[in-house]
Formats: sequence, C-alpha cells, structure tokens
Amino acid sequence: MTEAQEVLVYARDGAVARITLNRPDKRNAQNIRMLEDLSTAVARAGADPEVRVIILSGAGPCFSAGHDLAENANDPEVARLRASMETRVEFERRYYWQPAIDLRDVDKPTIAQVHSHCIAGGLMLAAMCDLVVAADDALFSDPVLRMGAAGVELPVELWAFGAKRAKEVLFTGKTIDGRTAYEWGFVNRLVSRDRLESETNELAAQIAAMPPEAMRMLKLSINRSLGLIGMDASFEQHFQVHQVSHATDESRKLLDERRQAGGMKSYVSKPVQAKG
Ligand code: ZN
Repeated sequence: MTEAQEVLVYARDGAVARITLNRPDKRNAQNIRMLEDLSTAVARAGADPEVRVIILSGAGPCFSAGHDLAENANDPEVARLRASMETRVEFERRYYWQPAIDLRDVDKPTIAQVHSHCIAGGLMLAAMCDLVVAADDALFSDPVLRMGAAGVELPVELWAFGAKRAKEVLFTGKTIDGRTAYEWGFVNRLVSRDRLESETNELAAQIAAMPPEAMRMLKLSINRSLGLIGMDASFEQHFQVHQVSHATDESRKLLDERRQAGGMKSYVSKPVQAKG
C-alpha cells in the first residue's frame, strides 16, 4: 500500500500505527492532500481494534516546515476559498483546524517523534499529540507573526509552554532547541538523533502494553479536563482572531513577500538555549 507518491504514509506494526509525513524534498511542508490524508489516517488508526498507540513522524531532513503556503495558494480550489474572508475561514477550518483537532481527539495515545525543524503548522501537529519524543537536534519555532498573522491557527504555544514563554517565543519569533523544549515540559523524552526512532518505538510499546479500554477513558478524561479549564474555548477564540489577522493590509503585504521569498528559511531564527 505504500506508493512512492504518497505524501503521507500509514503503516501498522503490531499495536503501533505509524503515520509519516512524507514530502522529504519539501521538508514535509503540509499541502492539502497531506492534511486530508492525515485526518483519514488518524481515523483509520482510531477505528482499527489492533492499534493501541499512534506515532506521528516526518520522513527526511526534518519533522515539518509547516503549512505549504506556496502550493496551497496555487491550488485552484484553495484560491477560490481564499478569495473572501468567509471562505478563507472555511478553508482554514477544514484544512488547518480539523486535521489538528482530529489528531488531538483520537481516542488512542499519540506520540510525536520530532527531529530537526518543527515549524509553525508542524509545531501545531506535534502539540496535538499526547506525548513528544524529540531528538537533540529538534528545533521548534513559530515565526508566522513576521508574516503578519497572529500566530498559527491554534494557540498551541500557550498550552504547550505557558503564557510567559509562549509570548516570548511568539513575540520574538525565536527558535527553541530540543533541550529547551524538554526543560519547558513540552518534550517528554529527549534522545540522540540515532536513537530517536527506537526510543519512540520503545515508549509506544510500553503504552501499547496497557489495558486499551482504560487507556481510552484516561485520555478522554485528561482531554476533557483540558477542555474544562478552557482549552477548547481558547482554541476557538484564537482561531477567530487569527482569521481577522489574515485580513489586515499589513498581513496581505507581508504574506505576498513571504510567497515571493519562496520558503520559510529567512523567517526562522537561529536556535537559542534555555538559560539557567
Ligand atoms: Zn491561517
């Protein structure tokens, strides 16, 4: 079932489903097809009684460079949806919001396996996973403020890092390394790059050995508790603010410049390490 052209690869090994972002030549920039396939793959893992844990990883040089703004802008259907404020909201709800929420809400434990760059929409997906295993070369960033948008579609940094750290990361667009993300509690296990896959598989095996019904209820309870302290309302209000931020003259000008630049490189700053 694995074809060379697949932008997302689904594979099951025993109780573990592995979902791999598979556009290595594009640094796993998320195009529409990848995001649709992600929701499909998550639903498939959720529905398969053999699957007890889901790993999300990226093929090639990094985890993910975020949404593929260039390709997504060239798609005629996307261009149509992006033409007005109302349809743009519909577009982002369908392709950026929903796959992330599907990943968060699947009733089986999920692990993000992160190496090298994990940028903006990439950080959004990693943050939707229950646990994060990162290589010591992992680099987390969300520089989209530089493009005139109020962060990514979901306020993941607030929930992942806490308000003060989230504000610093977002207000400066700075990149944090794996060690810092580990010290901030976003990364559960920090491992060497050559051990990344085996350590992630080992963690998955530990989780897969637990009773699956109780596990399902435990995840549901924790996620509902996050909802009760405001995660869902926070996501919804931020999504609306994010949409308004796309509609400003400032945002349109900066996003055009971003498309002409043709990549995220100039937007991603050098990593900084935690001090103290
Ligand atoms: Zn957006």
